[in-house]
Amino acid sequence: MITARFRPTIAEVDAGAIRRNARRLLDAAGEGAQLCAVVKADGYGHGIVTAAQAALAGGASWLAVALVEEGIVLREAGVDAPVLLLSEPPPSAAPTLVANELTPTVYRAEFLDALEAAADGSARVHVKLDTGMTRVGVAPSDRDELLARLAASDRLDVEGVQTHLARADEPDVTTTTEQLERFAEGLAAVTAAGLAPRLVHVANTAATLVHTDAWRAVLAAGVPTAAPLVRTGIGLYGLDAGPQVSAMSHGLEPAMRLVSAVSHVRHVTEGTPVSYGHRWSAPADGWLATVPIGYADGVPRTLTGRLDVLHAGRRRPVVGTVTMDQVLVWCGDDMPTFGDEVVLIGTQPAAEGGGELRIGIEEWAERLGTITYEIATGISARVPRT
Ligand SMILES: *Cc1c(COP(=O)(O)O)cnc(C)c1O
Repeated sequence: MITARFRPTIAEVDAGAIRRNARRLLDAAGEGAQLCAVVKADGYGHGIVTAAQAALAGGASWLAVALVEEGIVLREAGVDAPVLLLSEPPPSAAPTLVANELTPTVYRAEFLDALEAAADGSARVHVKLDTGMTRVGVAPSDRDELLARLAASDRLDVEGVQTHLARADEPDVTTTTEQLERFAEGLAAVTAAGLAPRLVHVANTAATLVHTDAWRAVLAAGVPTAAPLVRTGIGLYGLDAGPQVSAMSHGLEPAMRLVSAVSHVRHVTEGTPVSYGHRWSAPADGWLATVPIGYADGVPRTLTGRLDVLHAGRRRPVVGTVTMDQVLVWCGDDMPTFGDEVVLIGTQPAAEGGGELRIGIEEWAERLGTITYEIATGISARVPRT
């Protein structure tokens, strides 16, 4: 393993922010609710172990990952909290899953067969009902057969029942209401099959924050003895769950700063063409700063011409084509100095007028026509997390 670190490009992760965000999400989920911190995809790019430990310190009682492989990383780091797998892995993963005490989401009989064979004693599972996301989960037409299969097994313990919402980040659509109605029917079928789950869950970050009363009512009526669990990812990292679900307005704090430093300084004359393709030329005589971060680090090349950074307390444009390892920043008449801090995502004290300047992941997402999730998970493994 290479431990030397020479390049100044780093993602600073504020574990305290993740811990406080967990606490706020737990409060938002309401009385009696438990928090499942979603730490898949390396904790949405923040570092899976850091994110898991911070969320647990903030009151989370569960963790969730997408892959068995991610669950193993948590176990090898000594994390012993319950870990939910959000989708069913291939049957061949069942023995490894059991050995690592990971709790699977289930929806296919073939997987249940493999799990029963692998389990010594009983295995806890969370069955997933598809209510309209149409991605994973048992379809309504196959539901009752699967529930009967689960009820008949003396090796499978249905600890949880769940569904997932497709449009929770849009406060005003009726889809969420329809999905919740289908989930209510599903919970009735679960109870009718003789199953008594202890945890019932529906809400991602957006639903936790904006549809709280709706899903809580369905859960309370469906299985009154079960505790509601919320599965929150993006809010834990202080990022917007969508253009209409602002993290900041719910008191959540961004947990990542992406910073680098000036690695080379040039004075150029008006008209000097810059970077691959010479797509930009200096509009006047002035200063250029080179910054050692590029698309291999997760700064999308398609942000060429649309990216700003914070340097010396000012917002400045990145000019010329974004390259694999470097970008160029136009400083005009201000001479940059080798080693000056450059903030790509985060805040920096303003040079004038007090206060601070800020560039959020939301700004990149909006300019690229994507969502915060894709930007955060796209900060590549080459960038050390500190
Ligand atoms: C990723 C995921 C979540 C977390 O969603 P956020 O919008 O990040 O809160 C919850 N549930 C499932 C099934 C997921 O795949």
